[in-house]
Amino acid sequence: MIKHAKHTLCALAVAAVCSPALADKSSDAIHESLVVMDTHLDTPALLVQPGFDIMESHTFDDDFSQVDVPRMNSGGLDGGFWAIYSSQGPVTEAGFRESRDTALLRAMAIHEMVAAHPETFALATEPEDAEDIAKQGKKIVYISMENAYPLGEDLSLLETFYKMGVRMVGPVHFKNNQFGDSSTDPNGQQYGGLSDLGKELIKKANQLGMILDASHAHDDVLKDMIALSKTPVILSHSGTKAVYDHPRNVDDPLLKKLVASGGVIHVNAYSSYLKELPNDPERGKAYGELFKQMGNMAEMTAEEIAALKAKRKQIDMEHPAVRATFEDYMEHFLHILKVAGPQHTGVGADWDGGGGVDNMMDVAALPKITGRLLAEGYSEKDLADIWGNNALRLLQQAKDYAESLKKPQ
Ligand SMILES: [Zn+2]
Repeated sequence: MIKHAKHTLCALAVAAVCSPALADKSSDAIHESLVVMDTHLDTPALLVQPGFDIMESHTFDDDFSQVDVPRMNSGGLDGGFWAIYSSQGPVTEAGFRESRDTALLRAMAIHEMVAAHPETFALATEPEDAEDIAKQGKKIVYISMENAYPLGEDLSLLETFYKMGVRMVGPVHFKNNQFGDSSTDPNGQQYGGLSDLGKELIKKANQLGMILDASHAHDDVLKDMIALSKTPVILSHSGTKAVYDHPRNVDDPLLKKLVASGGVIHVNAYSSYLKELPNDPERGKAYGELFKQMGNMAEMTAEEIAALKAKRKQIDMEHPAVRATFEDYMEHFLHILKVAGPQHTGVGADWDGGGGVDNMMDVAALPKITGRLLAEGYSEKDLADIWGNNALRLLQQAKDYAESLKKPQ
């Protein structure tokens, strides 16, 4: 954790913004005082792994994890949106059924985490819950759904997930599915945006009061979502094409469109979306083989998982990972801030889902972002918006719209 003495902060900041009020508080004190949330935590994937204890201290070097309670404490992370992630399988009845069951179990795992440690975690479903929970010194657990594939073609299931606490939903992941086009499907677009069922999904999510998430979706899906959704859309973990032209990132005109509609973008720290990285075919091959063996880790024993992790470490030693750096991450962040403004920008670093850059490999490093943004001249109020208020505003708008439908016309 960086400790900024007053003079260090002033030296880093542009003179004009180094106001006496700001100079009175260190960057760390400001960070600590804010409700700090990340809109895309993939940690629930670890919760179902035998042997993983979120209350214990871990290191990335040791087990590749990036979020646990001790590291949340040292990085001042109060919580955020914990994702029910589903990988994209076949768009068939059998595929829907299997992923529905896995998604339900993932939702249960999040509830079990909260139930097992009521003094540490609290489930959040309402916009005002975040602040209340943070005030109690507990971790905020909103639930999101990354990839709506498990819903199959039965949108009533979205209501089931809503009742389980889900307040954010994204239609697709790496490949096209029944709801629309992915930004990264190797076969290209299938619908030219949302499918008819995808359009129904937008309507249903609006009716329930869920935030719609367009990360992973094709640009045309984002455009459709902006046009169709009654409330602003989020990109919960995305970057900018202006810094690196990758399909997972958005260009400035589309970002401006999102912002004009009230939407927000939370900046991803996924290395290979931040910049062009040298290709290491040997490493790719070794990892490809490892991932094949990994399969469903929830069904493995702790020993089997430990053996796979040892193999992964061996690969990393023989073919070291090349990652983007904290500065690469900040290049995306600062550009997005310039285009979208601090009321439309946040953090969604994809922890435990492939995120993490050199010098920011786990949530313990989050105060660096606050330090850097203060040094760039952003205010304490901007930081409060970036770290939490923007996402909560979207949740409030989603809720208000859903409630407006219930009132007699
Ligand atoms: Zn993702």
